[in-house]
Amino acid sequence: MSMLYHYQQQLDKLNQVQQQRQIPSLSHQGSQVIVDKQTLVNISSNDYLGIAADPTLQQQFLSSINSSDTNIRFGSSSSRLLTGNSNELEQLEHDLEAWFATAVSADTNVKQPTNEQDNTDTQMPSALVFNSGYHANVGLLPALTKLPLKTLILSDQLVHASIIDGIRLSRCDYQIYRHNDHQHLRELINAAGAEYQRIIIVTESLFSMDGDYADLIDLVAIKHSDARVELYVDEAHAVGVLGEYGLGLAEQTGTLMQIDYLVGTFGKAFASMGAYVFCHPTIKAWLINNMRPLIFSTALPAINHAWTRFVLAKMTDYVSARQRLHQMSSHLRAVIAHISPISAVSDSHIVPYILGTNAATLAKAMQLRQAGFYALPIRPPTVPKNTSRIRLIINAGISDDEFEKLLNAL
Ligand SMILES: *Cc1c(COP(=O)(O)O)cnc(C)c1O
Repeated sequence: MSMLYHYQQQLDKLNQVQQQRQIPSLSHQGSQVIVDKQTLVNISSNDYLGIAADPTLQQQFLSSINSSDTNIRFGSSSSRLLTGNSNELEQLEHDLEAWFATAVSADTNVKQPTNEQDNTDTQMPSALVFNSGYHANVGLLPALTKLPLKTLILSDQLVHASIIDGIRLSRCDYQIYRHNDHQHLRELINAAGAEYQRIIIVTESLFSMDGDYADLIDLVAIKHSDARVELYVDEAHAVGVLGEYGLGLAEQTGTLMQIDYLVGTFGKAFASMGAYVFCHPTIKAWLINNMRPLIFSTALPAINHAWTRFVLAKMTDYVSARQRLHQMSSHLRAVIAHISPISAVSDSHIVPYILGTNAATLAKAMQLRQAGFYALPIRPPTVPKNTSRIRLIINAGISDDEFEKLLNAL
């Protein structure tokens, strides 16, 4: 196959600039990973609350499952629209709606319904579950924009690859605003001609590479400044971590009811698989009719949803784990701010240690590994050139001793 030569040549080029990706071979032992026979503390995982690393929780779940229950299946055999739906999946959506309602009713800032407000601010949203965050983001925008309305999508410069793919598949006009630069965003809205009937702003709430937040309160203000504007927020990294009930930054900032499409995922703090959107019930019905990754992909198995429900039931109890996570993170950020040659903007449990070159980053990762920590270098094209970094990710499962050791190693 003569094509192989061309592939190999390109791979060699990546290798020369230390940018060839490889799937690391590893196994897990609680919160530690075993790589090349070395046991290392995992400071690269998205298991923010330490749930995936907790074997007793898994045992608890398994013993709560009735093994003769024929509804708890390990495969769903088809799309939800055919025979892939399950009781667990429907219950999960109800549980999500109840979770949302609890957080909203606890929020004293939520405005009570008045006649002046439009429907979207007072209607409790419905939850719709997807197979993954990738499915959600790739499918939502193309489905939402399948109306005969001219739409402009405005997205933050640093949104996740799955959102970028969703924008492309929507084939709508789109513009990118500078990261978290709402001045720029306002300019783009003001410049949007009258031909645009809708403007959808898309952002993450907690950005994965820098660990900084979007200003959701200001985004809501921007939304209210122009009747054409809708808000789409991806909380993949904030769910489970922020807010009294763990709903994310929207809960923490009291903006739950103001976000039109609120996406969260189960792969990170939830230690499961899947994703959801909270949206108006009419939108949910529309998505069921138009969203391709929902319609044309086999649903996750009921056993997976049962586990997600098991974790969701505990989510509001993780208050002290969240506090511990925030304390460790702020300590780590202070240390990194002190030693880092390039200042970072993190305000969360994701703390980039930006070293600049690939070589310096790889050397630091190796040094941390020798000290017993599994930290992964992040290089272009995932991050901009000359901002190669080690992404330190704190999780609540890291012990005090391990944390102390990490600070010393840094
Ligand atoms: C991880 C992530 C996704 C993808 O979610 P999966 O469930 O892993 O497919 C989507 N958006 C953001 C912001 C993410 O960080």
